[in-house]
Parts: sequence; C-alpha cells; structure tokens
Amino acid sequence: MKIIKCEKLKRKPQVVSGFGKIFTDYMYVREYADGKWDEGKIVPFDAMALLPCSSILHYGQGVFEGLKAYRNERGEVRLFRAVDNFKRMRTSCDRLCMPFVDESEALGALEELIDLEREWIPTEIGTSLYIRPFMFADDDSLGVHAAKKYKFVIILSPSGAYYSHGFAPVALKIEREYVRACKGGTGAYKVIGNYAASIKAGEIAQREGYDQVLWLDGSERKYVEEVGAMNIFFVLGGKVVTPALNGSILPGITRDSVVKLLKASGVTVEERLVSIDEITDGAKSGALTEIFGTGTAAVISPVDRLGDGSADYIVGKRGSAGEIAGMLFDRLTGIQTGRLSDDFGWITRID
Ligand SMILES: *Cc1c(COP(=O)(O)O)cnc(C)c1O
Repeated sequence: MKIIKCEKLKRKPQVVSGFGKIFTDYMYVREYADGKWDEGKIVPFDAMALLPCSSILHYGQGVFEGLKAYRNERGEVRLFRAVDNFKRMRTSCDRLCMPFVDESEALGALEELIDLEREWIPTEIGTSLYIRPFMFADDDSLGVHAAKKYKFVIILSPSGAYYSHGFAPVALKIEREYVRACKGGTGAYKVIGNYAASIKAGEIAQREGYDQVLWLDGSERKYVEEVGAMNIFFVLGGKVVTPALNGSILPGITRDSVVKLLKASGVTVEERLVSIDEITDGAKSGALTEIFGTGTAAVISPVDRLGDGSADYIVGKRGSAGEIAGMLFDRLTGIQTGRLSDDFGWITRID
C-alpha cells in the first residue's frame, strides 16, 4: 500500500492513560468517488480539509466502529474480532445508504496500519490500542440525498483503562424521559447521530451523581434496552438475563462474546424482553445480584447502583464487581491478551 511518510515522528508516551486523547503517527484513508473506491493509502495523522458545504456537516451521514489491538509481553500483537466489526460497519453503511469497503480489504488495510504502528501499542495490563474506523459523506453541495463522495478512515489511539478508577463499579440512572432509539430508527447501527442525541440525558444523569443512563424502549418505556455505549446484563434469581436484540439495541460484539462464553461454560443465558419493573422488583427483593455492562472500551463494567427517581438501589456489594462480571472480565481479557487460549477463533495475530 502507498505510504506517505511523516517528516517527523511523535514521541511515544512512557505511560498511557486516558481514552482517545493521543493518536499514532499515521492513519489510513480511502476515498470513494464516481461509484468506486480508490486504492487507499497510509498518510500522516493530520487535519482533514472539508468544505463548509460538506454533507457530513449538515446531514450526518456517517458511521463508525470501535475495536482494540493488544500487545503482550511476548510481543504478540492481537486483534479481537475485527472482521465482526467490519461486518457490523457494513450494516451501518447500508442503513445510511453509504457504500461499503469489503471486510477483508478493510482488515488488510488495518493490519498494515497496525504493523507500521506496532511500537505504539502499550503493553501494561489493561491498556490497548483503540482502533477507530469511520466513514463519512463528503459531497460539496447542500441537497438532501445520499452523497456521492465518501471517506473511509482508520485512526489509532493508545489507551489506558477506560474508567479512570479502573475495574470498579459504575452507577446507572434509569432514563424515563429521553429515549435513545426506537424500532425502525437507527439504534441498531453504529451511526454517528445516535450519540449526539444521547448526550443530554447523560449530562443530566451525571449532574445527579450517576455515570451513565440505562435506556428503556422508545415506545412503551417499559423494557430495558442498553446503556448507550454498552449492552446490559443482569443476574436475576441466579440466571443471566439480557435484552434480546430487537431492532433498536446495538448488537455489541462484547455482548455476543459474553453470551458465547457463558453458554460454553454451561451457564444459562436468557435473551428476552426484560421489563424495568422486573429489574427494580429484583433489586428490592434481593433476587437481582449483579448488573454489568459490556462494550469494547470497558470490556466488562460492573454496576453497583441503579437510580430511579428518588429511589436508589444498591446491587451486589457496593464498590466491588460481582462474581460473574469478574469471571467474564478475566476470561475476555485473557483471550484478548493471549493469557488464555482462543477457543472461538476470535483473534487475528499480526506478526
Ligand atoms: C459500540 C456500542 C456498544 C458496544 O458494542 P461492542 O461491539 O461490544 O463494543 C453498545 N451500545 C452502543 C450504542 C454502542 O455504540
């Protein structure tokens, strides 16, 4: 692939902390025009010029993905379920009438970019290289229609543990006013507009002392959906329960991995409608023993407090992760870093 070299490389950080704040020297860019993609190239990470009339700025025809690469003490570089991310990106592109890049071509480009930047991948426990592929419309006219020009870009960000306090529980607020998505909309796709629409509820929840909101379904506000950057699991009466994918929930790859890991270890997982009343009743009776979120950034995020108006429920032991959440975190990060064997074929090695 064509590589346009940086004049000067950046200094790599000694210790990586935080999420999404620093970026590597290079990025991948591929452009679509006249009904086809160009060859794609690796270029220095830098500002991208857009005309003020660029369609992405006006109508938000854009999608993204998030995945991680890990480098272990043996120097192995490992990508987790990358093909699944590009497959999901295809569905997002389709929903917004955007052209897509072939999954194996996207994976090939990513492997080449990561190989070039492998020294940027941190090795300390809990750290990784966060990968952000995204695509956006870039027509230079204001008509509302599917654009004719697009850019597909991949940027890389060495990242510390997602939550500043590490693998520690978070507090969720049951959101009863705002909705994230409804059936027929774009909730099941990683399209950029979903996130802008969710910021307000998150800000209010944070002012009230919570970390994130627990979204309910858009039509009845009766059923649990997800957390907005994480899918959600409950341990209720000894069973693991998670909302079934229903057309408005984002089909998380971590969610899918958790379901497969639990099933393989003989744990029953119910994917079904989960009413919020069932959850608050379980919190009151003590039948609800664990809540945890799943997503690429945090992997597993235990939840120890659930707020509902003036009520606040403590779930499990305050300040610590539940048993199943802890086991899943250990298993998933073990597979990701190569400490445990990859029985599901989830890892792509970049040697
Ligand atoms: C990305 C995302 C998730 C988690 O998906 P993963 O593939 O596990 O990272 C969950 N919900 C929403 C809305 C998301 O954007």
